[in-house]
Amino acid sequence: MYKARIAVLYGVSLANDLFVIPLILIIHVLWGENLRWEGHVLCTNLKAASWPRDPMHRLPLAGWYAHWAGTTFGHAIMYGRRPSHLTRVHEHVHVHQMEGAQLKGLLLGLLVLLVTGKIGLAYLIWFLSPWAYLVSNWLVAILRGVDWYLDSAHEEHAYLTEHVLSEMAVTPYEQKLGILQKYI
Ligand SMILES: [Zn+2]
Repeated sequence: MYKARIAVLYGVSLANDLFVIPLILIIHVLWGENLRWEGHVLCTNLKAASWPRDPMHRLPLAGWYAHWAGTTFGHAIMYGRRPSHLTRVHEHVHVHQMEGAQLKGLLLGLLVLLVTGKIGLAYLIWFLSPWAYLVSNWLVAILRGVDWYLDSAHEEHAYLTEHVLSEMAVTPYEQKLGILQKYI
């Protein structure tokens, strides 16, 4: 049953996974270590001495990712360093958001295909849906007069989930890991 559900999630997200899975593999080969699956998501950690993380690297723009904890590209996550369990939960909240946006895009794309018969347009809507979701949240944050990135709806959700879990610090670490399983 688990495999069937994951297969459906991958089918729903195929428009972007076709690009982000090769992308995370390229990132891993160039700068990553510890390629692994976290649940159904392919992950890599950037090496400390890699160009994105190391400000002393000889290439221009070295260290541009040094202060970031992680980035989610659909079913792929690039971590800036070995992630804490809270960072993992944060990024996996983004995975769930992307999956929701992908499903919405797929349904909308199918509707457009049904009405117009234009398969290219339908695919574009499917492909762009998660990115439109992110950009829309950023624009709404700007219109609200708050920080476009940190106060966007998807970051609010991820940081709030992190905060709620960190407030449960009194519970044993293993218990936290049990909670983590719900997210990953
Ligand atoms: Zn985030």
